[in-house]
Amino acid sequence: MTDRKDEIAGNLARVEERIAAACAAAGRSRDEVTLIVVTKTYPAADVRVLAELGVRHVAENRDQEAAPKAAECSDLPLTWHFVGQLQTNKVRSVVGYADVVQSVDRPRLVVALSKEAVRAGREVGCLIQVALDAGESGRGERGGVAPEGIGELADLVARSEGLRLDGLMTVAPLTGQYAGRQRAAFDRLMDLSTDLRRDHPAATMVSAGMSADLEHAVAAGATHVRVGTAVLGVRPRLG
Ligand SMILES: *Cc1c(COP(=O)(O)O)cnc(C)c1O
Repeated sequence: MTDRKDEIAGNLARVEERIAAACAAAGRSRDEVTLIVVTKTYPAADVRVLAELGVRHVAENRDQEAAPKAAECSDLPLTWHFVGQLQTNKVRSVVGYADVVQSVDRPRLVVALSKEAVRAGREVGCLIQVALDAGESGRGERGGVAPEGIGELADLVARSEGLRLDGLMTVAPLTGQYAGRQRAAFDRLMDLSTDLRRDHPAATMVSAGMSADLEHAVAAGATHVRVGTAVLGVRPRLG
């Protein structure tokens, strides 16, 4: 039986090598890319191990699971990212532990986040989640706003008390014109980031790339990759 810490350390080393190789291939410095480990479905004990191994950014996608986990790990020097679809009735809880919400995709959510951030006396970083596969509705299947909607939402975040506009996030689409074309999808996100930074120069974060496609994201210029499976293992279903 391999000790869990050894297993995670081995996986982490392999992911670190992949990121370093992708940075080298792209002519980028390794410190331009931040690894966020997605800990959904894995216990607080694993989060503790990650912190011991030097991980400083973790992400969760469901408040019911994340809230108790973050509470158990509140002594650790971690930045918590929320990356899941977020209902407004969960905002008060999420603002209690999340440093960055990466799934900001509609005005109502911005208003709720601002209100709760002010109430909690916290500043919450916000990424606009972009749906590159958004249909007629202007919204993605798994959340996100269509590219046309970024500007208005970004302006709203930027003028909302308690919130800080940090940049953009996307998940490579499974359907539509970008299906199976992660590099093209991430290139498009970078173009949208360039547009955004004309009005909001501090919004430099570009969160893209997961276990299967982090190389494409680094090649395109992502500043943050969100990796779950490759570090912690294949999740049991429902995650
Ligand atoms: C689960 C998840 C990830 C990580 O996916 P892996 O394939 O396990 O690396 C990244 N981003 C979001 C939004 C997720 O929900």
